[in-house]
Amino acid sequence: MTESFKDKEAVQQCPNIVLFGPPGAGKGEQGCRLAEEYGYVILGTGDLFRKNLENKTPLGIEAKGYMDKGELVPDELVILMVEEHLETIPEGAPLIFDGFPRTENQRKLFNEFMEKRGEEFEVVALTAYSAEEVDKLIGRLLGRGKTSGRSDDQNENTILTRISNYEKQTGPLLNNWEQEGQYVHKHSAIGKIEDIQEWIQGIVKEYSKRVEDVLSEDTAKEETKS
Ligand code: AMP
Repeated sequence: MTESFKDKEAVQQCPNIVLFGPPGAGKGEQGCRLAEEYGYVILGTGDLFRKNLENKTPLGIEAKGYMDKGELVPDELVILMVEEHLETIPEGAPLIFDGFPRTENQRKLFNEFMEKRGEEFEVVALTAYSAEEVDKLIGRLLGRGKTSGRSDDQNENTILTRISNYEKQTGPLLNNWEQEGQYVHKHSAIGKIEDIQEWIQGIVKEYSKRVEDVLSEDTAKEETKS
């Protein structure tokens, strides 16, 4: 077996992941680490909007008005952009969704997309519930704002609006998934990056093992038949 084939096999056994959590929870950082380690393709809606803005597309310019205020971009624009982007994603690549879905309409589109692909997904939520944890997120974002060039990280009021919009519009999606029987993996967003990374690696490994077990059960069944 060649090295590249081995890699491909490993990639196919990784679960699709929704990285969920408030602004500053570390979704972007964890997504990059997973992409590097397992070959994930990342769909980050914030990044897609920023790319649109860099290219001065009408979508980017319209989205900027909302982003600068810390508001969510309206669903119609997000869904249009995500649908277009999804068409460019190769079949079979394991996906990380970073910052999407953020509303119930988006979650429905997401669920439909997964159904169409006939694939499962794991929801990995980095949480901050207490006032102390939320304060730490604000500090992180203000710190990031010094170097990221992101205007929405530089103003404390904008950050507070983003966090409050997360709590009102996005956080409840976890409950909706749980009510549908989707398991949600939860970990405090406050902690060492490496520790959280290890926890997510554990989720990926557990999934891969489940896939392997199913595959070997299937092989055993085939063998008894013949
Ligand atoms: P992020 O990079 O994920 O922090 O997103 C930056 C900003 O982009 C957010 O504050 C929103 O204004 C906008 N945005 C990103 N993803 C979405 C989404 N799924 N729905 C609505 N707005 C979004």
